[in-house]
Amino acid sequence: MQLTKQQIDYCMECGVCTGSCPISQERAGFSPRQMIKRTLVETDENVLYSNDLWACLSCSRCSDRCPVGIDFPEFIRSYRQKARAVANLPRESHHGVFQTLSTLQAGASRLNRIAWTEGAGKIAAKGEYFYFVGCAPFQTPVFKYLGLNVIDTAKNILKLINAVGIEPVVSNDERCCGHDAFWAGNEELFAALARKNVDTIVASGAKTVIFGCPEGYATFREHYPQVVGELPFEIRHITEFLVERLPEAGVVMKDAGEGTVTFHDPCRLGRRMGMYEQPRQLISMVPRARFKEMENNRENAVCCGTTAWMECSSCSKKMQTNRLMEAEQIGAGTIITACPKCQIHLTCAKSNTDIGIEVKDLYSFLAEQL
Ligand code: SF4
Ligand code: SF4
Repeated sequence: MQLTKQQIDYCMECGVCTGSCPISQERAGFSPRQMIKRTLVETDENVLYSNDLWACLSCSRCSDRCPVGIDFPEFIRSYRQKARAVANLPRESHHGVFQTLSTLQAGASRLNRIAWTEGAGKIAAKGEYFYFVGCAPFQTPVFKYLGLNVIDTAKNILKLINAVGIEPVVSNDERCCGHDAFWAGNEELFAALARKNVDTIVASGAKTVIFGCPEGYATFREHYPQVVGELPFEIRHITEFLVERLPEAGVVMKDAGEGTVTFHDPCRLGRRMGMYEQPRQLISMVPRARFKEMENNRENAVCCGTTAWMECSSCSKKMQTNRLMEAEQIGAGTIITACPKCQIHLTCAKSNTDIGIEVKDLYSFLAEQL
């Protein structure tokens, strides 16, 4: 839903947004409060050619605190759509490989998306549950150089779903969820991907879709209905699903041994979807997992520094390094996250420092204790 100028007009110019924004702290002149004001008093053209349009991470730290509830990420996203029309485009990371892959998936290309499932667990071609894997199969070869094997996250999620007695559908016809296209203002691509995914899930006969990636989950929940109307199936994030199903299935975790772990809240799972407790409850199911919060946790968590594979900057690197140091300062040996992109970004930052902390995804942490 796009914000109207009337809604923006409620802005009281209190500056809470700018004071909360991690980019404003690092990038001279970037101010959500002033951007709102500019759109009210200047012509659209002045705003549309600004690079600041692409600097926002859509992390929702500002909108979460705004006293009049202005959804600044949505406000800036709607301007991005118009900026594309005047050729003001973002700087794409990794040579634009992920943007290209999204575009290709909106076409008729046939994909082999399920090769990784061989030997990893049991899947079905049709059934009640659909596991929406997301972009892990494409991220895996790109981030090998960081020593990461992103597909392990998907393998471990499948293992956990199997552990509660479910053999989910995993499909070659799944497509990129369109999250990045949406936040980069490319609504046409987003709509094409949304329609393909809904058709695929409906054809599988699934009644419930389980998401490992918070971005896919948030995109289906918040933005798909704008394109396809009410979803004809239920959607669950794997953390809320497992919090219910692991105890019901009588799954008992092994001892995690010594060492302190902490949790980095992904923006989409936390501030946008309000799921703060479920990942923490899952960590607490592992015996002897010594858990400690970082100073900035839950609503106050700081973004992992980059969104939608664009505008990776010195601000991004500083935010990521600060986050790792925050975890190290509380004595954590492991920082756990529930988002593949957070894991990739924090691992990337770590590779350029001598910070020794381990960056781990929640599902590998859990599956290793099964
Ligand atoms: S926090 Fe909300 S009301 Fe305050 S300046 Fe920002 S947008 Fe305006
Ligand atoms: S969404 Fe995040 S990065 Fe964007 S203006 Fe708000 S606080 Fe800053």
